[in-house]
Amino acid sequence: MDRDLERAARERAARRDEAVRAAVEQGLLGPDAAVAGLLDVTGIRRSAAALRAAFDAVVPPGTPVLHAFAVKATPLVPVLRLLREAGIGAEVASPGELALARAAGVPADRTVLDSPAKTPAELREALALGIAVNADNPQELDRLDALVRSAPTGSPLGIRVNPQVGGGTIGATSTATATSKFGVALRDEGAREWVVRAYLDRPWLTRLHAHTGSQGIPPELLTRGVAETYALAEEINERAGRRQIDTLDIGGGLPVNFAAEATEPSYARFARLLAERVPGLFGGRYGLVTEFGRSLLAKHGTVVARVEYAKSAGGRRIAVTHAGVQVATRTVYAPEAWPLRIAAYDAKGRPKPGPEVVQDVAGPACFSGDLLAEGRALPLLEQGDYAAALDTGAYYFAHHYAYNSLVRPGIYGFAPDGSAGVGFATVREPQTIAEVVAESGGAHADALTTLGAPGSR
Ligand SMILES: *Cc1c(COP(=O)(O)O)cnc(C)c1O
Repeated sequence: MDRDLERAARERAARRDEAVRAAVEQGLLGPDAAVAGLLDVTGIRRSAAALRAAFDAVVPPGTPVLHAFAVKATPLVPVLRLLREAGIGAEVASPGELALARAAGVPADRTVLDSPAKTPAELREALALGIAVNADNPQELDRLDALVRSAPTGSPLGIRVNPQVGGGTIGATSTATATSKFGVALRDEGAREWVVRAYLDRPWLTRLHAHTGSQGIPPELLTRGVAETYALAEEINERAGRRQIDTLDIGGGLPVNFAAEATEPSYARFARLLAERVPGLFGGRYGLVTEFGRSLLAKHGTVVARVEYAKSAGGRRIAVTHAGVQVATRTVYAPEAWPLRIAAYDAKGRPKPGPEVVQDVAGPACFSGDLLAEGRALPLLEQGDYAAALDTGAYYFAHHYAYNSLVRPGIYGFAPDGSAGVGFATVREPQTIAEVVAESGGAHADALTTLGAPGSR
């Protein structure tokens, strides 16, 4: 690993340690705030800059490149605004995600809509706004045909293909398997010819999109997906006799190193790999769209939870904390696929020294599988300490799961405060119990008892 990555990893860990201590000191964490999400603003800015620099280094000057952050990874408006300021757009896949991107001020021409289940209303709105749309399947393309006929649009339009290059180590996040639900499956009989004809018949189709998968897909396989997509674009343009496809959307999916601090693979390494294996893509004939999510945010988020009780059972030590399935759903339900690093802090938020003891780090939910980590060697967590689940800035605390009616924790961004301390900004308020009652039908308490009762209509 190169020196710069090592140094960046050390610095990130140091920023996180300081933030945990400051969060305890400033009362963002404590007996009355037993769990919180922390976001490293410095780190997010650096990742955004690294992404842009990585691709700038391999494309000819002047090549249009849009890095659209996959909003589903961290659907928080202040994060999308921070990324916008760092030159990153938004990839959205639902009306809610589009609304978040717009609330963050991401312009239409820096937004891409990719969902597999877009309704006519969603498509109409996207085309009216001028947002790029990638059609997932022939039926969606029919709908686009009708919309394009009925009104002119500034939206760049394309088709999503599934290059069927195979899956990675996690089935649920592999999108280029033979039978994936996404895009037009290119290797199916007749599919490639259908795609080519679709373009030849529609001069307004100018983009081609593939997203080969997320965590668990090695960069080499992502690169093969991009190579297949590039080859198809070349074939279409050749048969069209012109450069009809002017932009390739290569999706996201760069995996995150959940086993250690370092950011590996880096964007720079991935961009170089792409440039080496698919050189034509970087010859200046194509604009580029990327859609990275996890790799931009994961390393910059930390869930910190107070240890409410420390106990033992059957010889195993167990720290019962306030972070479990509600903030780390994938880890709890599929611990083999989604292991998380855990860091131990004392009651003042200072890193706990050893010796290490094998223990379980449990969450607050009422089922025995609610474990952040099982049989993990860590400095012994005691009552009043804090356990931190690292690398949880994407697909974790922003993806609350309402099991046991546990409240959504507050999320706070942190950065140096300008006088050698740590400053915090609220990204999302902690949910209140009143809000939990309201969203659980609190306003309709009588709804079922009065339904069909004598005297009611
Ligand atoms: C989820 C998704 C992404 C982002 O994937 P990451 O693994 O978070 O980088 C990009 N594009 C599409 C179409 C997606 O569904």
